[in-house]
Amino acid sequence: LYSEFYRARRRVAETKDQKHKVKLLANIAMVAGLDEVLHQGAQGVGLFRSEYLFMGRNRLPDEEEQYESYKELIESMGGRPVTIRTLDVGGDKLLTHEAKAANLPQTALNEEEENPALGLRAIRFTLANPSLFLTQIRAILRAAYKENVKILLPMVTSIEEIIEAKRYIETAKAQLSAEGKLFNPEVPVGIMVEVPAVAIRPEPFLREVDFASLGTNDLVQYTLAVDRGNPSVAPIYSEYHPAVLHLIANTAKMAQKLNKPLSVCGEMGGKKNFAPFFVGLGFEELSMAAMQIPSVKKQIRKLTLEECQKFVKNLLRKNTSAEVKTAINNFMAKHE
Ligand code: PEP
Ligand code: MG
Repeated sequence: LYSEFYRARRRVAETKDQKHKVKLLANIAMVAGLDEVLHQGAQGVGLFRSEYLFMGRNRLPDEEEQYESYKELIESMGGRPVTIRTLDVGGDKLLTHEAKAANLPQTALNEEEENPALGLRAIRFTLANPSLFLTQIRAILRAAYKENVKILLPMVTSIEEIIEAKRYIETAKAQLSAEGKLFNPEVPVGIMVEVPAVAIRPEPFLREVDFASLGTNDLVQYTLAVDRGNPSVAPIYSEYHPAVLHLIANTAKMAQKLNKPLSVCGEMGGKKNFAPFFVGLGFEELSMAAMQIPSVKKQIRKLTLEECQKFVKNLLRKNTSAEVKTAINNFMAKHE
């Protein structure tokens, strides 16, 4: 039984007709327990949620502390790819009042937001706090020296945000060069596709970046106008909604046309029931909680590319979440 586990871990996530391979990576929020992540068969880290280094403390981590954490994360992955997302606070992820007051005087003033999910969150927050952003970028670029690391920008809604963020990344490189510090000048820069403004017309956004990753948790929230954390509207929060599937398909089609790597790092990516949809759309990378990797891999190995492609066509014709769910359940029942 034990050796069967190790054999399964070494197997790749490939369709049974061997026509499509999917890389399975891990979503990480802590620089701990990384042995377990590899143990589950992760081929790298597809999403490091860096905000967890910043939350629940009164003093924010300085450049050295961040550098040490990123370095530890990267080294523990032993050369496998690591995608580090820049600070995604605001919305459901909050800094302490003390940390904000001490480090970020400009945002301490508008502490109370009526609609935090639509407020000064993620890339908006970091662009409003340039020294915080620069410190993080410097730490990532240094930790990425001679390593396979990418930078991922959360909650982008406009091209201007990408251009501004890239300008800070160039500034950080210029500073590090002038200081004679070692860093990786070629770190790819990508965006989360998690706001409809991007997924409706992804072309100009994708042209501006090296890669992208679908954040389905927020994409569902913002597409359906439903708070992802509010239990009274939880039944309306549906990953099966046809509009969500069409936005994902639209983004995938454009990414393929432009030859830009696109992955999924929201919860949908780790659900085996959505694996046929993502395979059919041609996704070559999914990132998920490490413990979900074995079941998604097992599912992919039961499918053929052609049946997944047919399934996607059928699914995109459905008009309600209920119809989508039924179609998925029927397909899954045939591929158990
Ligand atoms: C997402 O929105 O799908 C995502 C992966 O990011 P987070 O859940 O951290 O907002
Ligand atoms: Mg998100």
